[in-house]
Amino acid sequence: PKQNLADFLVESASRYPNHAALSFMDKKVTYAELLQAAYRFAHGIRGLGVKKGDRVAIVLPNCPQLVIAYYGTLLAGGTVVMTNPLYMQRELEHQLKDAGAVLIVTLDLLFRKVMSAVTGMADVPLIVGSIKDYLPFPKNLLYPIKAKKDGVDREVQYGGRIHAFPKFLRAQSASPVHAEVDADNDLALLQYTGGTTGVSKGVMLTHSNMVANTIQSSLWAYKVVPGQERYLAALPFFHVFGLTVLLNQAVMIGGEMLLVPRFEVETILQTIAKRKPTIFPGAPTMYIALINHPKIREYDLSSINICISGAAPLPHEVQERFEAITGGRLIEGYGLTEASPVTHANPIWEHRKKGSIGVPFPDTIAKIVHPETGEDLPTGMMGELAVRGPQVMKGYWQRPDETNKVLKDGWLRTGDMARMDEDGYFFIMDRMKDMIIAGGYNIFPREIEEVLFEHPSVEECVVLGVPDQYRGETVKVYVVLREGATLTDAELKAWCKERLAAYKVPRIYEFRDSLPKSIAGKVLRRKLVEEEKQNEE
Ligand code: ATP
Repeated sequence: PKQNLADFLVESASRYPNHAALSFMDKKVTYAELLQAAYRFAHGIRGLGVKKGDRVAIVLPNCPQLVIAYYGTLLAGGTVVMTNPLYMQRELEHQLKDAGAVLIVTLDLLFRKVMSAVTGMADVPLIVGSIKDYLPFPKNLLYPIKAKKDGVDREVQYGGRIHAFPKFLRAQSASPVHAEVDADNDLALLQYTGGTTGVSKGVMLTHSNMVANTIQSSLWAYKVVPGQERYLAALPFFHVFGLTVLLNQAVMIGGEMLLVPRFEVETILQTIAKRKPTIFPGAPTMYIALINHPKIREYDLSSINICISGAAPLPHEVQERFEAITGGRLIEGYGLTEASPVTHANPIWEHRKKGSIGVPFPDTIAKIVHPETGEDLPTGMMGELAVRGPQVMKGYWQRPDETNKVLKDGWLRTGDMARMDEDGYFFIMDRMKDMIIAGGYNIFPREIEEVLFEHPSVEECVVLGVPDQYRGETVKVYVVLREGATLTDAELKAWCKERLAAYKVPRIYEFRDSLPKSIAGKVLRRKLVEEEKQNEE
């Protein structure tokens, strides 16, 4: 196959040239405008020497520049490296160097950090945009509004290797650029894993991988209407979940994306009430934050029709409350960066199961294997989830040993413990790495977290194994209470005792104001483990 992932944009621009592709701070960009800007970008980076397969790093929050640079790079035949803009210098440096980025696209607000991360990478050109480029009503994508110079702008010394985003586009032709790709082998993305549990690795995702997962996820939501849906784009595009179920899917069906650069609850509520999105993909922490907001009932959220939650377990309680408030469907799916990322989801309109990640996507097969021997296990038994399908990665970037550990004969070992029931529905128990072994028992944090979530005073919680002299490890919980709620260790322990076998009942309770989270909304267990280690020393 030759399909370039950017063909979704080319097609939608010919079908819906005047439909809004995205809106950002009240400014709309049509499909025709977006494609033209992407062509200009593609010409521009070719002029800077970017060749087929070269890695272009995008260090941006959700904003128009990200979408233009993404499609421009793909059209030019480059490989996109989406980079978390909240990374600190050390993390940025690791990723940019590991990927061998030849060009970096970023924002003035992030300029200083990015520059310090690329000190060792002589002459890598930078294209620097500004949020102000697209603040209310510029004439078009090529002309920024004349903003007053404030401190931030002056830090960027444009010239030499540093290019200003709109000016860079203006200088190029808008004639079509379309790199031929070998879709099964050429990389559309080099996408780094979340690093929730360890060092972040580069995952090689081909054009075919991404195209397949986009088609699979839109088939899934089969009641979507091409040319008419509005997507609330709060999930970050620098995570592959946001890229596939949001950016790529919206562009494939000619939907409009309402770009939200940062998840801020009140802004989200206002955006929903005013702009009436129909589809809102998210992470559990987003839905949790929304349903717990004291003013949620004051906003009309009834436009929301379909929500897919991924990245972490979705507590059933949260699903029910969110559906009651919006009247839409909130379903749980599952995936990992190594699978572009979605492999499973619950059917949206019928037959979903409580606590299940659902059934494999179309054209995806899944099985449960013995975590050590790799043998297939019978229905109902718990083991490691393995998946196979067109969305499974080519391998890890420059880490053949790591690739061989997880990829064999097309099967990807996910590192997650799961089981399948008689109806073919899958249930994630937990990550193998998160399993707690206490006094010889295997304990899965997720099961305990579910019980804690059912408590009316608990807003968020995490369960972790911490070292214990007698049991090897013991169960500890970190709890964030709902506003105004009070709860003691003893009360919460009593709640758990009524609902869990004695060996699973948490022994240590820590109440906190918040939990450390990744921008994809996942609780950073790694940070909590590190804290525990430091406390011990
Ligand atoms: P790293 O692999 O670097 O530690 P990460 O695991 O966060 O980072 P991702 O690819 O973003 O990297 O996350 C994939 C993981 O997220 C899955 O392996 C699984 O453990 C978890 N996950 C995703 N969806 C769900 C879900 N619905 N229920 C439970 N866990 C989920």
